[in-house]
Amino acid sequence: MMAKGDFHLHSTASDGVRSPSWVVETAHANGVHAMSLTDHDSTNGLAEAATVAKRLGLRLIPGIELSTDLGPADVHLLAYGFNPASEPLQAFLSWQREVRIGRVDKIVAILRDEGAMIETSRVFEIAGEASVGRPHIARALLERGYVESVKEAFDRWLADGGVADVPREKLSPQEAIALIHREGGVVFAAHPFLIGHTYLEAIDQLAGWGLDGLEAYYKNHDEEAITEMVLLAGKLGLACSGGSDYHGLGNPDERPIGDINFPDAAVDRFLAFIDEHCAVPAL
Ligand code: AMP
Ligand code: ZN
Ligand code: FE
Ligand code: FE
Repeated sequence: MMAKGDFHLHSTASDGVRSPSWVVETAHANGVHAMSLTDHDSTNGLAEAATVAKRLGLRLIPGIELSTDLGPADVHLLAYGFNPASEPLQAFLSWQREVRIGRVDKIVAILRDEGAMIETSRVFEIAGEASVGRPHIARALLERGYVESVKEAFDRWLADGGVADVPREKLSPQEAIALIHREGGVVFAAHPFLIGHTYLEAIDQLAGWGLDGLEAYYKNHDEEAITEMVLLAGKLGLACSGGSDYHGLGNPDERPIGDINFPDAAVDRFLAFIDEHCAVPAL
């Protein structure tokens, strides 16, 4: 089902394969009326996306995806409607991108010990201007023939808890929520089931720290998963968002932009929430 809203999308500003322009044009071609580009630790794709969105008459909400540590759990947060030009925010994002760069050296060293002789310099070439991440390393492994797909690179080495998964320094969810709120934005828990088996406890804690919503309409959520998240959001007084988490990496679970089970009425409720609570509800 093509939804008219998709609020979780990646581009070449982080670990997506397609440019911000391509992502907006494709969203528009797929019938999406409102979207957010949510690159990891970078708002650098937003200006290009906004230019294309204006031309096509599509609403673009400022967005970003931040990774945070909650004990052993890696909690991804989607922030919307903040002021992307804010200096404290950009200083924080630059620091996170530096941390990511330092991590690449460590991951490549482990992979070379494992016999996969890729070069750090090639990983940075693939990443270009992007906020560098494990998918760029997976692509370096793929092009040298060490694996046949990005997924295989994760399954063998890079997945959370894998031999080449090197942790990086992150904020706590509490700090990230406070940072985004200070910049006039709102914060949603991305793909809540991927928090792991402690997701209920985690969401409870996040709600206590001022979380605004849950990504109830995530790409691979069936009706049962959506219902569970919508009920939980209702119980905790949270809003609901939805997105495809499109990267263009060709993973088996990838869905086209806008191809999510996100009813129009739920998209409208999300947009009304953004209008009511955000300093910058559109670019
Ligand atoms: P990083 O930002 O470097 O920690 O890498 C996280 C990104 O890697 C996620 O946003 C996904 O795009 C991708 N990723 C994480 N786990 C997997 C997996 N098991 N298979 C394929 N891609 C994954
Ligand atoms: Zn990603
Ligand atoms: Fe994520
Ligand atoms: Fe994502």
